[in-house]
Amino acid sequence: MNEQGLLVVISAPSGGGKTTIIRKVLERHDPRFVYSVSCTTRKPRQNEVDGKDYFFLSEAEFKKRIAEGEFIEWAIVHDNYYGTSRATIDHFLRQGKVVLLDIDIQGGIEVKRIYGDQALLIFIKPPSMHDLERRLRSRQSDSDAVIRKRLENARHELEKQSQYDAVITNDILENTVDQVIETIEKKIAELSQTESIRR
Ligand code: 5GP
Repeated sequence: MNEQGLLVVISAPSGGGKTTIIRKVLERHDPRFVYSVSCTTRKPRQNEVDGKDYFFLSEAEFKKRIAEGEFIEWAIVHDNYYGTSRATIDHFLRQGKVVLLDIDIQGGIEVKRIYGDQALLIFIKPPSMHDLERRLRSRQSDSDAVIRKRLENARHELEKQSQYDAVITNDILENTVDQVIETIEKKIAELSQTESIRR
């Protein structure tokens, strides 16, 4: 494995199932894999735990951390602030970990710009817009207006999938998880190859 670690950005239109996919990847208990918990100003959903799903911050606190340069990237998504902690990422990379990031596409592109070949961008695509709408509605946590806004954003996000290193259609969950892991393993093998050539 590359001693520098690897950042794996997993992006999908909201409701595309990426949170479940990431959870399933982590459930394989590969000690190399860790999750980067983002900060947000969004209110916690039912069952979400502070420090595990997100660090839930006030807008004032979030803005203070932006000013202090604490985020490698941050964005306003669906009217809330979201950001990736520099301290978390640096800590894991120093340990040579495979760091999974559940962040949006603009964030993914920014991570690639900063980390280059040390970042792998995986786009999870819903089988169809119809399927995406069904998933968003079944979550029963967002209002109709929020769902419509998320569907509209999804249309724009789908247009950007070509900027990602890999695109995987989330049809059957277990297959998707297998494909995500295969894609990561392939990247690790490539990086190890480059490392050994350099040595
Ligand atoms: P949700 O509110 O559904 O948890 O997340 C909304 C969107 O924000 C998702 O697309 C999620 O990937 C994205 N997101 C979560 N954390 C971050 C982050 O730290 N940075 C960026 N750019 N997007 C994030």
